[in-house]
Amino acid sequence: MTIRILVFVSLCWAAAAAEPVSSRFAPPRVGVLVRFERRPSSLFVKVLQQQVDAIFRPSGLDLQWETLSQNKQPGSYDRVVIVEMRGVCNPNWPTAPGQSLDSNVPLGWAMVNDGEVLPYTVVDCHQIARVIADRHHDSTRLTSFATYTRLASRVLAHELMHALLRTAEHHQSDCMRSPLRPSDLEVEPRLQPKEIAALKGIMRPRGEALAQRD
Ligand SMILES: [Zn+2]
Repeated sequence: MTIRILVFVSLCWAAAAAEPVSSRFAPPRVGVLVRFERRPSSLFVKVLQQQVDAIFRPSGLDLQWETLSQNKQPGSYDRVVIVEMRGVCNPNWPTAPGQSLDSNVPLGWAMVNDGEVLPYTVVDCHQIARVIADRHHDSTRLTSFATYTRLASRVLAHELMHALLRTAEHHQSDCMRSPLRPSDLEVEPRLQPKEIAALKGIMRPRGEALAQRD
């Protein structure tokens, strides 16, 4: 999960721009607008959202999920993050040979322009499948689906942290660690208290929110 520095050009961005903050007291409604390169199973989408919701639950953020399509105008939210899911999000889809976690191939990334982290992230389903294939050669379909969705959720939560906190930094915490450790494939990530505090503060003036972090 590395940060890729790109010039940000996206037509959809204008349509999905965040509205002004409505209240600093209500939990901010965060629109997570997901665009799939290839439409996955409804079960994958459901489990992915449930797992990411569970990771962010301690923060109190109100994550509102939307699947982007060409013919639909996105809703209005306090904050918006666009998530591009590349490849086929299916652990049983034929993949290239497995790839180890320490190969330095990113599983996801957040866009950065002129040093500013943008609310536009990418999750690479193909590379995630390759990591799972490397680790679970002889697992059952059920096991690989569970492992796959757990890793995809972890990668998505990591990129959401970059986008929501507008930081390119990494820390040795579950959600901000990069690269991942092999053991990270087996357990659910948890937010740290400082991360929860930073997320609770994202609707306040930016300097105040960042001051709560390391
Ligand atoms: Zn990262």
